Amino acid sequence: MDNLNCSSSDVVEWTADIEPHYRITILNDALNEALVGGYIGTARMLQKKLGAASLEAKELHDQIEKKYNQIEQKNNQIEKKNVELEKLAMTDGLTGLFNRRAFDYRMREEVARANRSEHDFSLLFMDIDYFKKFNNTYGHQAGDEVLKTLAGVLNKRESDIVCRYGGEEFAIILPNTDIENALKGAYRLNREVAGTVMEFEDEAGDKHNKSINISIGVDGFRKGDSVEAIVKRADDNLYKAKSLGRNCVFGASGVYSFKD
Ligand code: GH3
Ligand code: MG
Ligand code: MG
Repeated sequence: MDNLNCSSSDVVEWTADIEPHYRITILNDALNEALVGGYIGTARMLQKKLGAASLEAKELHDQIEKKYNQIEQKNNQIEKKNVELEKLAMTDGLTGLFNRRAFDYRMREEVARANRSEHDFSLLFMDIDYFKKFNNTYGHQAGDEVLKTLAGVLNKRESDIVCRYGGEEFAIILPNTDIENALKGAYRLNREVAGTVMEFEDEAGDKHNKSINISIGVDGFRKGDSVEAIVKRADDNLYKAKSLGRNCVFGASGVYSFKD
């Protein structure tokens, strides 16, 4: 009797809702009965079977745990891929900036946030001046290079939401920024772009170093605004900047206007 050291506590920690669990329970009950009844031979035989069954249960448990870890690993990979895909769906392929879809999404967020709180924000709408002529002179490929370089110049401040609105038009959402600061920021960008010498090759492979200009329309959020309302005002102001002669910033109903 004294070498019978198998008790129910040796096996239960491996049991799960699987078939060996029942087998172990039955064997354990039978073993207890044999021990109480003093049937040593039966008890030894049951002890052996109990050991084998518990080993089988542990192996099964290990296999399940391994599978579970594999599934968890796959789930993490899928989650990571989904985040990457989400990012890709919001990114402009040429410039790496936010795309139009992301712009619409972030604008809805900013307008909703500004309408329910004291935070406001401003919007810059910009367009490259005479870009058709640039493409005609140096080729579409050179135009693409310029768009990429311009994106780098515009996308310098962490808090700005810089988007390629379409073609050679860009939009920047400035969270927590009032119109005055937005106008100052727009002017700084206008000057920075004008002062940036861009390197590109024309279709013949000749290298060029040239700068381009942008016109910018600015407007700030007004309580009760819709996305469409603020976008329209910023776009109208861009149109005014163009009609003022280009390479300038126009905003806030004509109160602010800068031009060299
Ligand atoms: P302005 O805005 O000053 O009135 O003149 P613009 O010549 O820039 O006028 P418009 O907006 O009519 O022309 C835009 C040009 O931008 C037309 C097109 O060739 C060029 N463009 C748009 N998207 C791309 C692009 O992805 N790559 C290149 N290279 N060019 C583009
Ligand atoms: Mg345009
Ligand atoms: Mg243009």
